[in-house]
Amino acid sequence: MEEVDGVVVGAGVVGLATAARLARPGRSVVVLERHPVHGTETSSRNSEVVHAGLYYPPGSLKSRLCHEGRRALYRLADTAGIFVKKVGKLVVAVDPAEAGGLAALADKARAAGAEGLALLDGGEARRRVPQLKAEAALWSPETGIVDSEELMRHYIAVAEDAGAMFLFKTALTSAERRDGAWVLGLDSGETVRARWVVNAAGLHGDVVAALPGLDVDAAGYRLHPCKGDYFRMKRPPALPHLVYPMPGRHGLGVHLTLERGGGVRLGPDACFVDSHDYAVDAAKAAEFAAAVSRYWPGVRAEDLLPDQSGIRPKLSGPKDAWRDFVVAEESARGFPGWVNLLGIESPGLTASPAIAEMTASLLDA
Ligand SMILES: Cc1cc2nc3c(=O)[nH]c(=O)nc-3n(C[C@H](O)[C@H](O)[C@H](O)COP(=O)(O)OP(=O)(O)OC[C@H]3O[C@@H](n4cnc5c(N)ncnc54)[C@H](O)[C@@H]3O)c2cc1C
Repeated sequence: MEEVDGVVVGAGVVGLATAARLARPGRSVVVLERHPVHGTETSSRNSEVVHAGLYYPPGSLKSRLCHEGRRALYRLADTAGIFVKKVGKLVVAVDPAEAGGLAALADKARAAGAEGLALLDGGEARRRVPQLKAEAALWSPETGIVDSEELMRHYIAVAEDAGAMFLFKTALTSAERRDGAWVLGLDSGETVRARWVVNAAGLHGDVVAALPGLDVDAAGYRLHPCKGDYFRMKRPPALPHLVYPMPGRHGLGVHLTLERGGGVRLGPDACFVDSHDYAVDAAKAAEFAAAVSRYWPGVRAEDLLPDQSGIRPKLSGPKDAWRDFVVAEESARGFPGWVNLLGIESPGLTASPAIAEMTASLLDA
């Protein structure tokens, strides 16, 4: 049996950030990933936006880790040469009722620590993005875009330089506490003995959390997958900033995001699902065109191509109240040295360096 200091389950952006933070010479860390390569699930199926923390309740983990993560990410990108661009974003209100909600959103975002926000009238918004239909808009200069693949490769390089070992095509299938350590069963038939375990298994986080015997329903850890489809503009307009509608109940609303190469995507919508099927229904083009046309008039279904989809690992179901990230060391439940990272939906990409830092402090590492 292999003996190591720690095991990270999942090589998405959060598991990779955590491995990069925890690995160091003299401390052995193994990353388990059931797929042949890193980041093939949620970490490569998102909007690649560096969020400015506009939407989350002040004091929540989503708020705090988004702000800390964004600052860390911009610093990291600067020093490590990862592509980021502070393109800024407009949240658009299309009528007076939405404009009232926009002022409330700005107040809440400022209270949570969002920086540089400005409320614009319709004319000011159109000076920034001429095609907009806007009664008013909230301008966020700190919002940006990041190349998530470059970020993940950076985390892998840092982890490997510090001696971390990556086991791809290897799933964690069992976990048992024995003689003061975790004995972990792998689908290869091997076992690993570790002092600590970080569950960064994304959409499968509840399944992994249950392996040592934790009652995920009693703990409120059951995940509710919520799919978001994207469409792509066939002829992308020259869009200087990201453009979002007022947020919806389960997502941020179908927005316009910019890609590094100048592409423009619409999405994601939000739809609770029973399986992890990533197919995008081309028939939704009309729905997407209508959603975007509210603030960007004239988009037609025939202007759009189906693109990718991603699935949010939500802790709240369709009728449940808002839930925060879970970043928890589980000694109090009888699982010492076991850290669960659950419900890491948006802004998990932005927050990844801060989630890694918090995990390290929970493990006193
Ligand atoms: C539609 C959408 C848009 C988003 N947009 C943004 C955005 O613009 N900005 C932002 O900050 N965030 C965004 N997010 C959130 C962000 O993408 C996620 O928070 C982040 O990617 C989560 O990373 P992760 O490492 O936790 O999970 P994942 O990337 O899902 O990685 C988990 C990994 O664990 C592996 N795994 C699972 N079970 C096991 C097992 N038993 N053994 C071994 N390996 C296992 C999986 O194979 C997977 O590779 C978005 C999310 C979605 C769905």
